[in-house]
Amino acid sequence: MSKLRFRVVETAFKKKAVEVKAPKERPSDYFAVNVFNREKMFKYLPEKAYQCLVDSIDNGTPLNRETADAVANGMKKWAIEQGTTHYTHWFHPLTEGTAEKHDAFVEHDGKGGMIEKFAGKLLVQQEPDASSFPNGGIRNTFEARGYTAWDPSSPAFIVNDTLCIPTIFIAYTGEPLDYKAPLLKALEAVNKAAVDVCHYFDPNVKKVFSNLGWEQEYFLVDEGLYAARPDLLLTGRTLMGHESSKNQQLEDHYFGAIPTRVMEYMKELEFEALKLGIPLKTRHNEVAPNQFELAPIFEECNLANDHNQLIMGLMRKIARKHGFRVLLHEKPFKGVNGSGKHNNWSLGTDTGALLMAPGKTPEENLRFITFVVNVLKAVYRHNGLLKASIISASNAHRLGANEAPPAIISSFLGSQVSKVLDELENSDSDVLNLAGKQILDLGIPRIPELLLDNTDRNRTSPFAFTGNRFEFRAVGSEANCASAMLALNAAVAEQLKIFKGEVDAKIAEGKDKFAAILEVLRKDIKESKAIRFDGNGYSDEWKEEAKKRGLDCETSVPLIYDAYLTESSIKMFESTGVMKPKEVEARNEIKWEMYTKKIQIEARVLGDLAMNHIIPIATRYQSSLIDNAYKMKELFPAEKAAQLSAKNLEIIEDIANRTIQIKEKVDEMIEARKVANKIESEREKAIVYHDTIFPMLEDIRYNIDKLELVVDNEIWTLPKYRELLFIR
Ligand code: ADP
Ligand code: MG
Repeated sequence: MSKLRFRVVETAFKKKAVEVKAPKERPSDYFAVNVFNREKMFKYLPEKAYQCLVDSIDNGTPLNRETADAVANGMKKWAIEQGTTHYTHWFHPLTEGTAEKHDAFVEHDGKGGMIEKFAGKLLVQQEPDASSFPNGGIRNTFEARGYTAWDPSSPAFIVNDTLCIPTIFIAYTGEPLDYKAPLLKALEAVNKAAVDVCHYFDPNVKKVFSNLGWEQEYFLVDEGLYAARPDLLLTGRTLMGHESSKNQQLEDHYFGAIPTRVMEYMKELEFEALKLGIPLKTRHNEVAPNQFELAPIFEECNLANDHNQLIMGLMRKIARKHGFRVLLHEKPFKGVNGSGKHNNWSLGTDTGALLMAPGKTPEENLRFITFVVNVLKAVYRHNGLLKASIISASNAHRLGANEAPPAIISSFLGSQVSKVLDELENSDSDVLNLAGKQILDLGIPRIPELLLDNTDRNRTSPFAFTGNRFEFRAVGSEANCASAMLALNAAVAEQLKIFKGEVDAKIAEGKDKFAAILEVLRKDIKESKAIRFDGNGYSDEWKEEAKKRGLDCETSVPLIYDAYLTESSIKMFESTGVMKPKEVEARNEIKWEMYTKKIQIEARVLGDLAMNHIIPIATRYQSSLIDNAYKMKELFPAEKAAQLSAKNLEIIEDIANRTIQIKEKVDEMIEARKVANKIESEREKAIVYHDTIFPMLEDIRYNIDKLELVVDNEIWTLPKYRELLFIR
């Protein structure tokens, strides 16, 4: 083993778990201690300010300057009591991460000293330079300045010595340059549209919330091994590495006993997360070796998304304390499962109803069917867009790789709900024209209550109904959930609006309300049938079938992004008030650019490693074999020597052939990049990177991985899969 590799492997093996002392209190005692939640608002704000703030959070009422000052003052008081010295606006630019710029509370007091100050205007708005964040050309045509604006619906929290204030991030001209702003608009759109539809069933509904419960998958790798893999360090994934002889085939990792060192990491993570109000509930080993999952109890979508962003940062930080690195990349290792982030999504009302759950009364069941059918219709109409909302250079490795959903969006409903929809679709319209509740009894068969928990599961479905929610499984582990959530909520909002228009038109013609609903539902069930698929999403037959059904089957990432710019997507975003065409276009520019940059970095790293690590080491080993062959000739008669060296000569030749191929491909790749980089259009450039350069990475890797199998283990410099995946 090369000296470095030997040292890191040895150290990794010897590492002991960093023991985490269990806190004396119970989780309920320390939950959200670092959050300026309602309890603290009540304690630290004057009554009037408290009322105004709560009204703003619950109903979106704008806050006036006076209230903002009072809130800032109360927040500051609380934060300083907790030992903080700084504050920051915390936002989600269009990178895969969060951004913050810290300022101290201090101001001159005018007498040569200092005082702690935090005015309402600093709480409400700040002005970071927009030009240093991805903006898709928006700032070029307008102003460089941008500003962050407080989102009171997500409570401020403390990390270390800093009060963090969740904010949106927009260009000076008003275009959002982040994920949160359009997400909030989509949530508002779905709220409005769903409340209107709820009123057919219950006039008391005032608000509909979108719920999100994410399940975060991730890998842990020892930090020493990680540091010795420049590809992991720079790209988040291994660009080479032969499969370990043993990986996940024994199925012995999923739900297995959690390794001690990992357990200590999880304990500390959970403690810190709970203090930040992130309601973590579940932890377990995942399918691949060194792969794990955590999940909280679901929350309102905007808050849940902030919490997911927050926890990804927390995971990275705490992992370091335990000598690990967290890998959030969707496919860090070839040949074992990648990581996703299932987005469990539903709508719920302020009256406590879950709209994706069957109820007890016929009305509740009709409402349930109404929402399920509208979701299906939205997903059907925008299946290409939903795929575009979750695809990325990294997630592309996972989708369609027989471990995650295929790169075709379809929805699994399970036999019971499917049966209900089939019966409704085929029911006799005369019967349904009867008056009163009988319509429902006849039109909507009874839905057993056991449905709530016991729906059959289909792991291959990208958008599966699971009893009281849909589970969008195609979302990537590294992604900001907002991208998927804003597309989904906006699409559903649009569809609910259309649905209401159609039902109201029938009512205006004199139709009974429920009969009108049933008629429109029957039409929508027929029209959206293509999206329903309960079979094996991994099979080749499904790919054929999906094509026939007219579903989006595109697999090239840059081309998948085109779905954002179709007439129907643009219209949907515009009519729901979520994004203007110019914004959608700008975002796509960023997506293409990001894709290109990611592949470009991978190509550079692989080229370097091939030339600096692989070829030199392979050649060194080859030289020792050549040396051996010559010495054989000295020791033995010519014929005998040739016979004894025959196998080594084969290896010598094999190494020569592979190094030639690697070197040729690396050169070819450099030339191809030079050509591609000259292309002006971000879209065209991304297409060339996808079609031409990306396949070269695979070719180079193939030969490197073969070399790994023959070259002397003693001198191989890079930690191997069997080390990366099994040492913890
Ligand atoms: P699985 O069985 O898929 O592993 P769990 O049952 O543990 O998942 O739940 C996964 C996530 O789904 C959790 O965050 C959970 O709170 C969330 N969840 C449960 N019900 C709903 C719902 N109605 N709407 C949104 N999320 C939900
Ligand atoms: Mg799940």
